[in-house]
Amino acid sequence: MKKKSIWLDERDKILPKIDKDMEVDVLIVGGGLTGLSTMLELKDSKLKVVLVERNTCGHGVTSRSTAKITYLQEKIYAKIRSLVNEEAASTYLKSQLDAVQLLNHHIKKYKIDCNLTQVSSYLFTNEEKNVAKLKQEYDFLVKNHIDVKIEKLEDVPNIMAIKVDDTYTFNPLKYMHGLKNILSNHIYEHSKVWDIKKDQDYYYAKVNEFIIKARFVIMATHYPYFLIPLLFPFKNHVETSYIGAKKVSKAKNISAINIDKPCISLRYYQDGGKNYLIYLYQSYASCNIKSIQENFLKLNKQMDFEYMWSNKDIITNDYMPYIGRVYKNDDTFLVACGYNTWGMTNATLAGKILSDIILKKDNPYIDALAPNRKFNISKLVRFPIDVGCSIKAIIKSTKENGNNRKVIYKKIDGKRVAIYVDEKGCEHTVLNRCPHMKCGLVFNEVEKSWDCLCHGSRFTLDGDVIEGPSNFDIRFP
Ligand SMILES: Cc1cc2nc3c(=O)[nH]c(=O)nc-3n(C[C@H](O)[C@H](O)[C@H](O)COP(=O)(O)OP(=O)(O)OC[C@H]3O[C@@H](n4cnc5c(N)ncnc54)[C@H](O)[C@@H]3O)c2cc1C
Repeated sequence: MKKKSIWLDERDKILPKIDKDMEVDVLIVGGGLTGLSTMLELKDSKLKVVLVERNTCGHGVTSRSTAKITYLQEKIYAKIRSLVNEEAASTYLKSQLDAVQLLNHHIKKYKIDCNLTQVSSYLFTNEEKNVAKLKQEYDFLVKNHIDVKIEKLEDVPNIMAIKVDDTYTFNPLKYMHGLKNILSNHIYEHSKVWDIKKDQDYYYAKVNEFIIKARFVIMATHYPYFLIPLLFPFKNHVETSYIGAKKVSKAKNISAINIDKPCISLRYYQDGGKNYLIYLYQSYASCNIKSIQENFLKLNKQMDFEYMWSNKDIITNDYMPYIGRVYKNDDTFLVACGYNTWGMTNATLAGKILSDIILKKDNPYIDALAPNRKFNISKLVRFPIDVGCSIKAIIKSTKENGNNRKVIYKKIDGKRVAIYVDEKGCEHTVLNRCPHMKCGLVFNEVEKSWDCLCHGSRFTLDGDVIEGPSNFDIRFP
């Protein structure tokens, strides 16, 4: 079995590193779907735009997604209605409908071969107690003029299912490679932003050992590494899910997700003569995870997978993404993140919103999704739970990782370190503190990485950062 995402089989050319100081109009930090979508929207403007990516484009969270393009997103409209209001839920629904169309439009306009397939999306339950909740989601969609039907789903046990037909699936990495190809002249890979400072009207970003001077900066790094001003870790939590891909005889044109626990989400994928079922089993608030290895075992028991991987996304306290200005009334420093596991639509939407802000165009979603939107006290409901959960994760990371005797936590020269002893007996020692907010780390035995359960940073065996919010490595010494 391959312990990596099915999409990561795709190969693409590596683009050059940054090799000199530069002056540009717009600097985009991060080459995931958010960064590339924004660059695409700015392509025909007169602005000089450069994108820098720490690794290679598309190999972040986007490469491990199930890649459904849909507005039927678990019980998201009920959640937004209860945490914000009815109007916000309707606005969010409209934004997702627009994003499905926009993504579809880009793929067709630029003729990107990425296995785009129109599918019926289902939302289902197999629990009597959740039927009323599913009906509420159905009623909301009907009220908002969506052509939604109550229809049984054949592929998994369910007592009620609703479906819409104008949704899609694709291969996200092929799409990203298509975008990268169109925009490649202005993308630099293996080019990491270490620091950004502002002096009068310009930002100065340290990228590898060079400086990029820019009028606008867009942070498209998934989880932003800065704490201030948004105090982001206090307004969201990170959720981890486990996914497998299994060969099947036929790929059906459906995708589905339940509203029960454990979470089950599925879609099919056809490429050449090969057909796969992509199956997500269980999602947890990351800080609640008891054992990463056991969660993979539970997934593995579901069926015989050819690929298996995990992925993390940011869940905001009001289930709406953060897209737009970091500082009120300042169009020069923008951010997009917090997609609540629906980033194919939201990253595409972010591209449009962020470019509209820079180009001074109107956009109907700027206010509703503003990162500095008014923070309602009721949205803090999760906050104490998250803090308690993070404390548990910190305590856990100073003990042995379950029954895993290959991981040792100790102090060397006054520094807390974690050591993984591999199959050959080699020791891999790293600092056992995530540079982001000093949380402890646990070992991910299956994907062989050090993971922060509090905010989702991940590091290689020897401590190089794979995924933020940490922007720094944990190498020792
Ligand atoms: C289990 C799971 C399933 C999902 N399934 C779906 C789905 O079916 N449909 C859907 O719509 N969404 C889905 N999502 C959500 C979606 O995958 C993400 O929200 C989306 O891919 C995030 O894209 P991004 O561009 O913001 O982040 P990323 O793809 O992570 O891109 C960020 C990039 O920034 C780079 N970077 C970070 N720091 C720096 C730096 N300092 N300098 C330079 N570069 C930097 C990183 O290397 C990375 O490449 C799922 C999420 C999860 C967890």
